[in-house]
Amino acid sequence: MAVHFHEEDLPAGVLTGTSALAVDTETMGLITARDRLCVVQIADGTGDEHLVRFNPGSNYDAPNLKAVLADPARVKLYHFARFDLAAIEHYLGVLAAPVFCTKIASKLVRTYTDRHGLKNLVEELLGQSISKQQQSSDWGGPVINEAQRDYAASDVRYLHALRDELVVRLEREGRLELAQACFDFLPARARLDLAGWAEHDIFSHM
Ligand code: MN
Repeated sequence: MAVHFHEEDLPAGVLTGTSALAVDTETMGLITARDRLCVVQIADGTGDEHLVRFNPGSNYDAPNLKAVLADPARVKLYHFARFDLAAIEHYLGVLAAPVFCTKIASKLVRTYTDRHGLKNLVEELLGQSISKQQQSSDWGGPVINEAQRDYAASDVRYLHALRDELVVRLEREGRLELAQACFDFLPARARLDLAGWAEHDIFSHM
């Protein structure tokens, strides 16, 4: 179990298997077109996490990372895929699908709570504790410190185990098919965000 740090791309030959990949991003903020992509985290569920950092002015020319993210044969696991899909598409120019989103899955089965944060899920479903202390830190600086690396890695560390548990609960509640339909729509939802419909729900009557 180790955290591997890379600049501007994954090394060749890393994460070349066929398993699902946990993916997360860190950016300069929540407005995708304004707030640049700083870090992409990826893990294949075998215990290692890979962090790819992009510098200010990066051209995001990362062929190894893009190939892994765009592989249509590998499911990408996210917590709130809508945001990460938009950031990845906007900055890296690839669609990182097919998708499994642990936040959507949680909302479909954990109807007894409105606490759907990653920290809540990891605590309740896996009995583990993660810190979100570095969530709002500066990901654009010249140095990503140890606490930031640990935080960034922990955001992808539990997604495989969460997926497994959430699938059990989705099956139990008869909502697996509905969840899959929601996951399949997420790339379009991210594109609506990028195209200017972020705050406007086109399914609402208004
Ligand atoms: Mn994160």
